[in-house]
Amino acid sequence: MNATTAALHAQISERKCRRTVEALARHGFAARYCATAAEAADALVELGAGAKSVGFGGSLSVAELGVRERFAAGGAEILDHSAPDVPPEAKTAVMRRQQTCDVFICGVNAVTASGEIVNVDGVGNRVAASIFGPGRIVLVAGRNKIVEGGVAEALRRVKDVAAPGNTIRLNKNTPCARTGVCSDCDSPDRICRVTVILDRKPSRSDIAVLVVDADLGL
Ligand code: SF4
Repeated sequence: MNATTAALHAQISERKCRRTVEALARHGFAARYCATAAEAADALVELGAGAKSVGFGGSLSVAELGVRERFAAGGAEILDHSAPDVPPEAKTAVMRRQQTCDVFICGVNAVTASGEIVNVDGVGNRVAASIFGPGRIVLVAGRNKIVEGGVAEALRRVKDVAAPGNTIRLNKNTPCARTGVCSDCDSPDRICRVTVILDRKPSRSDIAVLVVDADLGL
């Protein structure tokens, strides 16, 4: 790709991200465009300023931003069930406390350019905390999560990309982890158990969405 082509791709990407931000804002979310991952990390720290407890929903996108360490350095209690120092028997308790933390941060599986957010969960802690409970909820969506074509296309993205990738990442024994294709399994390890579509911002929740003009997560 030459410089001219790269510049055009960058302009297309920015327009798509900004169009998504405008659609999310029309749907009541405090949506913000972030030009880079570093800008998104700074925005997260700003949105979480003063929080005594910060919950993390087990998101690759958020992990890539490296903010967990910044909140910990600022003295916030970190509620991250995926942290290596949380033993298996303590994970459920951490997930429960995420529901009422000061700030909850997680990624999204897909966001439509028309302003809907789609998440599919295995346990449900992430999607529950993304609806109601925490004092503030901040969702991070890399540009790779944006789909045209509405909720149907968002759900397709989950089954084609996010879920197979996560089953491989989490070492799950599912058909998609072996083949890369969803077969709507009945596996005990199935991670697609709860689907949440945020059509509009839930009325009593404070939800910010960072649309990042960079590829993040799966
Ligand atoms: S339903 Fe099963 S096979 Fe399909 S993506 Fe989810 S875990 Fe994988």
